[in-house]
Amino acid sequence: MAGPDDACLACRIVRGDHRPPGGLLWREGGLVLHALADPTPLAGWLVLTSERHARAWYDLDAAPLAALGPAAARVMRVQREALGAEHVYALAIGDQLRHFHLHLVPRYADTPQRLRGRGAFEARPDDALPAWRVVAAVESVRRALAAG
Ligand SMILES: [Zn+2]
Repeated sequence: MAGPDDACLACRIVRGDHRPPGGLLWREGGLVLHALADPTPLAGWLVLTSERHARAWYDLDAAPLAALGPAAARVMRVQREALGAEHVYALAIGDQLRHFHLHLVPRYADTPQRLRGRGAFEARPDDALPAWRVVAAVESVRRALAAG
C-alpha cells in the first residue's frame, strides 16, 4: 500500500527497501545505523536514523532520544578505534532529507582540509571512494560493534 513515507529515503532504508553500502549495521532503541547512502569521500561515514519518520531531533520519541547519545558515542569510539579516525563529527542538518538522521563523519589524519567539518558535504564526484573501500569500512565497524 502506498503511503506518504514511500518517497522518503530514510523510511525506505529503515524498511529495507533501499540498501546503503554494507546494509544495516545495527537496529536498537528506535534507531538504525548504516553507511551514507550516497557516494562518499570518507570511509566509515555512518548515519544514525530514527526508525520512525520524525522530522528532526525535536520530534523524536523518548526511546530514541534516550538511545541517541550512548549510541552515537559508541559508534564514534568504534570509528576511532576500528577505523583509525582521529576525530568524528556529528552533524544533523536535515534540509534535504526531512527524516531525523545524525551523520557521524570520521576525520582521518590524511583527510584534506576541504573535506573536514561540513566540507565533507561539498565533496566532488571524483572524491567518491570505490564501493569496496566503503563496504570494507562498514564491515570493520560491524565486527567491532559485534565484539562489544
Ligand atoms: Zn521518513
